[in-house]
Amino acid sequence: MAILRDLLTRLSGRVESNVSLREYTTWRVGGPAEVLVEPAGIGDLCLVVEYARERDIPLTVIGNGSNLLISDEGIGGIVVKLGPRMSRIVIGEGFIQVEAGARLAGILTAARDAGCGGLEFLAGIPASVGGAVAMNAGANGLSIGDRVLEATVVDLNGKVHFKTHDELGFGYRTSALHDEAAIVVSVKLGCFPKSAAAIRAEVEQHLARRKQTQPLEYPSAGSVFRNPPGETAGRLIELAGAKGLRIGDAEVSRKHANFIVNLGAAKSREIRQLMFQVQRLVSEQTGIWLEPEVKLLGRHEATE
Ligand SMILES: Cc1cc2nc3c(=O)[nH]c(=O)nc-3n(C[C@H](O)[C@H](O)[C@H](O)COP(=O)(O)OP(=O)(O)OC[C@H]3O[C@@H](n4cnc5c(N)ncnc54)[C@H](O)[C@@H]3O)c2cc1C
Repeated sequence: MAILRDLLTRLSGRVESNVSLREYTTWRVGGPAEVLVEPAGIGDLCLVVEYARERDIPLTVIGNGSNLLISDEGIGGIVVKLGPRMSRIVIGEGFIQVEAGARLAGILTAARDAGCGGLEFLAGIPASVGGAVAMNAGANGLSIGDRVLEATVVDLNGKVHFKTHDELGFGYRTSALHDEAAIVVSVKLGCFPKSAAAIRAEVEQHLARRKQTQPLEYPSAGSVFRNPPGETAGRLIELAGAKGLRIGDAEVSRKHANFIVNLGAAKSREIRQLMFQVQRLVSEQTGIWLEPEVKLLGRHEATE
């Protein structure tokens, strides 16, 4: 295959064709990537973006896949995964500089050991920092955008830009990066002095609360729908009687109504159908059409 051959000669990171993306998502569903690239650094990333643009090849970026519904047919073109190969963490005075592929859990551990406080609220979000910044992930009344000082991004032409906090356009579970289709390469997070013991205690508290309230024993993508203004999607889903609804191995969690869990062999199509059923039920009861928080990648059929 021409793309594969070309990229193998140009990049030093991983390049492979026809790679199942199932293992690259926390929902454990989805078909293959036509070509999967794991860049070894910013140079590789710029090259692959430029290569795709010059040839009009679709390019999709994924982080830790914890907010993705990838279709059963997979994703055509090039899928760029930012993960362990770009995950350096450097602690400075009052900040932590991290590459986009670093996982939040690893950043929290490094921050704890260095006595850098202020990121504890992120405990339990199974994200890469790039994905977390793109989505402005958050919990407990705070979002990662509250801690982002600046970021380095690559644009659609493969050019590198430096963005200030304000230029990143953070909103509720979103950022300007989606509209601009910019890729986060590294992020500078602000932190403040705090004892390792206090950080550990707070992180453990958050993790314990998640274990109590979320169905962490099953694959999922966290909250499926965005909270409508002044409401929670979970409450509306529960009111609509949708808890426990099941299609194939996809089930609206009985523990947390805004989670759809994969009981074992769920298909992406089944999760999509279940999402639609939940949207319809909630709309019939409340007049509110829930908007997905998860990102749908690949071709998803219109569902009935
Ligand atoms: C058990 C569980 C609990 C969760 N709890 C929370 C929670 O409390 N709060 C919360 O906000 N979310 C939560 N989530 C959802 C998810 O973790 C977040 O949305 C997270 O930000 C996704 O990060 P990711 O690296 O997995 O990104 P992915 O899922 O891989 O991608 C998500 C989006 O970000 C884009 N993206 C990824 N990397 C980059 C990059 N480097 N540059 C630009 N764009 C990029 C992708 O194109 C996609 O549009 C939870 C998920 C699970 C499974």
